[in-house]
Amino acid sequence: MTVVLREQVAEAARRLAHEGLLVGTAGNVSAVRGDLVGITASGVVLAGCRPDDVTVVTPAGAVVEGELAPSSELSLHLGVYADTDATAVVHTHAPYSTALACVLEDLPVIHYQQLLLGGAIRVAPYATFGTPELAAFVREALEGRQAALMASHGSVTIGSSLHAAVENALLLEWLAALYQRASVIGTPRVLTQAEQDDVIHQALSRSYGTPQSHQETQ
Ligand SMILES: [Zn+2]
Repeated sequence: MTVVLREQVAEAARRLAHEGLLVGTAGNVSAVRGDLVGITASGVVLAGCRPDDVTVVTPAGAVVEGELAPSSELSLHLGVYADTDATAVVHTHAPYSTALACVLEDLPVIHYQQLLLGGAIRVAPYATFGTPELAAFVREALEGRQAALMASHGSVTIGSSLHAAVENALLLEWLAALYQRASVIGTPRVLTQAEQDDVIHQALSRSYGTPQSHQETQ
């Protein structure tokens, strides 16, 4: 069981590195399978992440498989699993997400696709990496959201699957790049609450974001 878990976490880390969201050893990925958590090990070059670079721990953080020490943000990942029904967590220092997290207090909804992440994205206050304080700030910022930014640090996304958490990280980085580019041109327009409500209503009625038979949409 853990063979598959370790391979899937390693594959997700390699993909996020390939997409430019994980650079060098910065960032970490974890996923739940059964009652175990697989998390990338500390100091691993994520573009070349192998199953041996993924450490398996219990929900309390005890290592049950793997030679390497787990990521320094292990307590953040375990805390998120304790708070939510997420089964995967991605933490990055992705370029645009991190740039916004160095400036903004939150990322407002300027594009309707952001509603897939739950709305405006909060920026968790700064605290030293790997500390319980940082984990607590991020857990609070994630309430009702699939993503959070971390002041002067990076981003966190969660998902109901590893695939979803990875897609959410890619979406957040796209939205952060969009905000940066739009801000160069002028002041981005923020969607009103009524506009956001309409998007959610429309998305629910059309199963937005999932492939459908053309017969269902007629
Ligand atoms: Zn970090």
